[in-house]
Amino acid sequence: MAHFSSPKFSTRFAQLPSSFFTFVSPQPLDNSQWVMWNSELAKNVGLPSNAPLDVLKQQLSGDKTHPDFAPLAMKYAGHQFGVYNPDLGDGRGLLLCELTAQDGRVFDLHLKGAGLTPYSRMGDGRAVLRSTIREYLCSEAMAGLGIATTRALGMLTSDTPVYREKQESGALLLRMTESHIRFGHFEHFFYTNQLNDLKLLADKVIEWYWPELALSDKPYAAMFEQVVAATASMIAQWQAVGFCHGVMNTDNMSILGQTFDYGPFAFLDDYDPSYICNHSDYQGRYAFNRQPSIALWNLSALGHALSPLIDIADIETILAQFESRLQHDYSAQMRAKLGLHTKCEEDGEFFVSFFDFIERTHVDYPRFMRELSNLDSGDEAPLIDLFIDRAGAKKWLQSYLERADKEVDQTGMPITAKQRCAQMRKVNPKYVLRNYLAQQAIEKAELGDFSEVATLATLLASPFEEHLEHHSYANLPPEWGKSMEISCSS
Ligand code: AMP
Ligand code: MG
Repeated sequence: MAHFSSPKFSTRFAQLPSSFFTFVSPQPLDNSQWVMWNSELAKNVGLPSNAPLDVLKQQLSGDKTHPDFAPLAMKYAGHQFGVYNPDLGDGRGLLLCELTAQDGRVFDLHLKGAGLTPYSRMGDGRAVLRSTIREYLCSEAMAGLGIATTRALGMLTSDTPVYREKQESGALLLRMTESHIRFGHFEHFFYTNQLNDLKLLADKVIEWYWPELALSDKPYAAMFEQVVAATASMIAQWQAVGFCHGVMNTDNMSILGQTFDYGPFAFLDDYDPSYICNHSDYQGRYAFNRQPSIALWNLSALGHALSPLIDIADIETILAQFESRLQHDYSAQMRAKLGLHTKCEEDGEFFVSFFDFIERTHVDYPRFMRELSNLDSGDEAPLIDLFIDRAGAKKWLQSYLERADKEVDQTGMPITAKQRCAQMRKVNPKYVLRNYLAQQAIEKAELGDFSEVATLATLLASPFEEHLEHHSYANLPPEWGKSMEISCSS
């Protein structure tokens, strides 16, 4: 375990050949200040839960160096919007060290916004406060929703000017996850024909994350199968909750199937399956309803990169599992969200009518699902009020309640509305990180007030709870908040 008073900054990744990375020191930021610190996460990996140590800040911000401190920028490549780019890598992020959690899991600590690296290309190596807040909040929101994700341990602001569409300030995100290895790491070694390194990377992924697979007949195929399964499960969760990633390039796809590299993401407000959250995605490649097929496309790109290690027939067989895994998970989650676990003959038809209804009415998706979970109050008005066509909404609600009445438990006893709704409230969040909420918090933070960021972080960590004192954060977005275009610049 690393203690920052006497740091041991070694990482397993740093033991790999130099073709995998370059050692780089962070470039100092002016007057850096801690503005967020995730006490729960910190405690779990043996770090102080209160004010972060100055020594940590000094090292992270490059103000002070330590002889053992050997941060590194990883080399990777990737398909961006379908086009292969060999020149990627950590252009502004550094792998700092590993921390061991209470349960024995080893986490990477990564610093995003740390300055130039050999992979910065035309970039400045920095991350602006706005995008750092968005990543901090969204990774914690996803964790609160139970969706696999990288985590945010802390955030620093600074007085260093960073230029995007306008002048902004440079910030740093301390990111934690078990792996920063992306599909693009494998693609890099495949396309540069460094097949020994490709094999070594696969061996290390198995050793570090799925050691039991080393005993399998075909360890690399088994590894690929894990990646496909984890990705399918993540995408099912995105689709069920209404999360739109926005930049599903293969360099933003985690080998562990965690939501990774938050950019112009959005949670659906109005239910619009073809919603495109990335202002620069002119063709809608990463539209909400294309995420499953894009994930499969990305997995195929990974499969291709692994083809020196796995038989083509095995790659195809494993890729063919993606759709059924995704369908299975997605269907289970939608059943849970609607409180309809019992398999009934009419379910196929019912679910078609459900999606048709929410798509046609463009109802606010998170709010509608939460109101469905509150019907045990006996008051249908908050739900019906979401619709202009109230008669149409009442008619659909009638069909839903008739179907819900058929729910039975394992012993065949009918499930009451109270029981059904109590379960539904555990899977339909009251609070989601709507873009307008993030935007309001960012605008305050840019004036030096992080209270709203902190409130959102707390609420989103337990989004299924009522938090009555913060009820207004569950409000529908204002008109300006719905049409927000999120810039890709970060
Ligand atoms: P992203 O779109 O953030 O996933 O980044 C794609 C690639 O561009 C990665 O190789 C990043 O490291 C790099 N990159 C993004 N922003 C910057 C920046 N401001 N400076 C240097 N490299 C960057
Ligand atoms: Mg990225």
